[in-house]
Amino acid sequence: MNELVGIISEVKNFLRLQAELGAKTYPKEVLSVLPRGRRSFEELEQEAFNCTRCRLSETRNKVVFGAGNPKADLVLVGEAPGGEEDRQGIPFVGRAGMLLTKILKSIDFERDEVYIANVLKCRPPENRDPLADEVEACEPYLVEQIAAIKPKVICALGGHAARTLLKLGPSTSISSLRGVVHDYRGVPLIATYHPAYLLRSPNKKRDTWEDVKFLRRLYDSLKEGG
Ligand code: URA
Repeated sequence: MNELVGIISEVKNFLRLQAELGAKTYPKEVLSVLPRGRRSFEELEQEAFNCTRCRLSETRNKVVFGAGNPKADLVLVGEAPGGEEDRQGIPFVGRAGMLLTKILKSIDFERDEVYIANVLKCRPPENRDPLADEVEACEPYLVEQIAAIKPKVICALGGHAARTLLKLGPSTSISSLRGVVHDYRGVPLIATYHPAYLLRSPNKKRDTWEDVKFLRRLYDSLKEGG
């Protein structure tokens, strides 16, 4: 056992040295033993751009890593890129994205002061729902993204994002998660409807307006608290 610990420690030191010497990528097998938190945001993004961890790498056009301020106090998390996002490599730039931009403006946020990401970084064909193994393969990027940004608050957009972040089962509805502050690894999290759902169900816009006002108040109070 002690021998194994010694080998792991030596491998870690070797990889750390390689990173300090400028190595940017490692074989998939060794990534899991790399010390967490030592990669820069850019290195993480670069790894995602070359990612082949799941089948979506075969059909994607562009990896949609995320956009906005990597030091933002607010992170919004959606489900997965759609067609327009896949073409441009930027999250929430299609019809749902335009609505999200309007929602953000309504509570005095510009897109570039927040950070916007998705659970999946690649588009599922025909915009189908993410599969469990795709979420499992991709979620470490989101975990590391959020850990690097260190936001004061997170807003989950829709059931997929909320259930993934909060580790809830598929039967938990987004409506049951609204209106309270959840905890994501010590960061307050609010859940609301996905903008694409609002395009199909405009009667939910009023509830969403309440959710985002709540989000703004929470954000302001956390900023005041330092
Ligand atoms: N829907 C999402 O969940 N994310 C996007 O980036 C676009 C649409």
